[in-house]
Amino acid sequence: MINFNVPPYTGKELEYVSQAVANHKICGDGEFTRKCNAWFEEKTGTAKCLLTTSCTHATEMAALLANIKEGDEVIMPSYTFVSTADAFVLRGATVVFVDIRPDTMNIDENLIEDAITERTKAIVPVHYAGVSCEMDKIMDIAKRHNLIVIEDAAQGVMSTYKGQPLGTIGDFGAYSFHETKNYSMGEGGALLIKHEKDIEDAEIIREKGTNRSKFFRGQIDKYTWVNYGSSYLPSDMNAAYLYAQLEIAEQINDARLAIWNRYYERLQPLKEAGKIELPIVPENCVHNAHMFYIKAKDLEERTAFINFLKEKGVMSVFHYVPLHSAPAGVKYGRFHGEDKYTTKESERLARLPLYYGLTMEQVDYICDTVIEFYE
Ligand SMILES: *Cc1c(COP(=O)(O)O)cnc(C)c1O
Repeated sequence: MINFNVPPYTGKELEYVSQAVANHKICGDGEFTRKCNAWFEEKTGTAKCLLTTSCTHATEMAALLANIKEGDEVIMPSYTFVSTADAFVLRGATVVFVDIRPDTMNIDENLIEDAITERTKAIVPVHYAGVSCEMDKIMDIAKRHNLIVIEDAAQGVMSTYKGQPLGTIGDFGAYSFHETKNYSMGEGGALLIKHEKDIEDAEIIREKGTNRSKFFRGQIDKYTWVNYGSSYLPSDMNAAYLYAQLEIAEQINDARLAIWNRYYERLQPLKEAGKIELPIVPENCVHNAHMFYIKAKDLEERTAFINFLKEKGVMSVFHYVPLHSAPAGVKYGRFHGEDKYTTKESERLARLPLYYGLTMEQVDYICDTVIEFYE
C-alpha cells in the first residue's frame, strides 16, 4: 500500500527534541523556536516571523491584528480549508467567496474588485498547491481600496512569486507545519509580519496579552497584562522537530520537485490525449511541489479513478468541498457572483501521493496505475 502522505522525517528530529528537553526549555520561545523564527526571517526577508501552534492560529492572530470586527467583510476563495474562513468568522466577520481560476485553482483576481463593498476589510488569497495567486493585481486592488491582505500560505513555504517568497507579499502571511505539509512539527504554523509597526502587538497577542516577549529581551523589568490576547506559541519540543527539517529544507524541496516533475513527465501523454488535465504553474511562480493532482472528466470519473487506484494499493484523495456549500459557509458567508469553476473543478480534482521519502519506483508504479486506468 502506498500512503497518500507520510509526515516528513529527516533523522535528526529526536536528537533536537532531546536537546530541548535537556535545556529544560519545553515551553515556548526557547532556543529552537528562536532558531526557526530566525531561519524564516533570513530565508524570506520578512520583518518578523513568529512560530505559532498552527496556521489556523497564525491566521487568527492576523485577523486580530487587522482589527477585523463584527459586520466586516473578508474576501476569499470558497475552494480552501475551513481555517481560512474560521479565523475571520470568529471575529464576527462575513466571508465573501469569489470564484477561482480553473488553471491554478486560486482566487480569480479579476473577480475580486466587484465583490468589494464599503464593509470590506481584507482579502485573503490562498496559494493552492504552493502555486502563487496573482499577487501584483491583488496588492494593487488592496492599495486602491485600502484593504489588508492576509496570505494563506499554509501550502506555500519555499514558493515564490516574481522572486518574492509567499507569505511576505501581503501585510501578513500564515504558514502551516501540520504533518501534511512540506515541513512539519506535528501541529504548528508561523505568522509572517511585513510591517515593523505590527510586531509588538503581535508579540503581545501571542503571549496572552502580555508584554512578556519584551521582558525576556530585557527591554522592561517586569511584564504585565497590556492587551487582549491568547496563547499562540508552541512548545520548544515541537520547534525542535521542525528545525531538523529546516536545516535540510532545500534537500526536501528538491526531492519533492523531482517527484512532481516525474509525475508531470510520465502523465503528459494522457494530457496530450485529452484524457486528463495536469497542474498549471504560471510563468512568474516558482512552486514547492506541495501537491500533485490530476483532473478527471467529472465527479463520476474521479470516483472511479480513486477506487481503481485504491484497489491497486495507491491512496489518492480528493480535496476541499467548497466552503459556500457547507452548513457554516451558508451561515457565515455568501458567494459573490457566479460559481462557474469552484464546484465543477473541485469535483474533478484527485491528488496523488507526494511526500519526502516516496521513491521513484513508487512514483512509477503510481503512474503505471494511472495510465492503466485510462486505458
Ligand atoms: C493546512 C492548511 C491550513 C491549516 O493549517 P493548520 O496548521 O492545520 O492550522 C489552512 N489553510 C490551508 C490552505 C491549508 O492547506
